Amino acid sequence: MTDHYRRPPSTKRIKAVIAALGYEIVWHDDEAAGYTYFDERLISLRRGMTNNEVRSTLAHEAMHAMFGPFPADQEDEEERLVEWLASRWLIPLSVLRTVAKRRLEPPQALTYARVDPAALQARVRRAMADDQRADWTQNLQQLADLPA
Ligand SMILES: [Zn+2]
Repeated sequence: MTDHYRRPPSTKRIKAVIAALGYEIVWHDDEAAGYTYFDERLISLRRGMTNNEVRSTLAHEAMHAMFGPFPADQEDEEERLVEWLASRWLIPLSVLRTVAKRRLEPPQALTYARVDPAALQARVRRAMADDQRADWTQNLQQLADLPA
């Protein structure tokens, strides 16, 4: 995949993928940003989130719908996989490189990438771990520990 030139998915596009998986989107009011109910084929989002939170949570739950559920004793692994895949889907390399090149501070980086802090942090940490010798990833250090 030529990640460099891939466009980041819009919320509309992510919703279309969720629909293609046979899942319906519903809403809830408790604290968790999102849930995936495999048996009912429902993805639930917390009411009142920002557009970037909705976009990030939809991508996260779409990855659960696609790859889950893992066995009960492997839920941490499922969570790590889903967070990584969602962050990579949401933030193509071209977007991450621009964030690094412009040395964007957290608020600007989140606005530019149109994601929540968890997604940006997952993307940045993995890019830094994968590509430690590349100069450009050094510029991402300030984004590796974002307050949730
Ligand atoms: Zn999750």
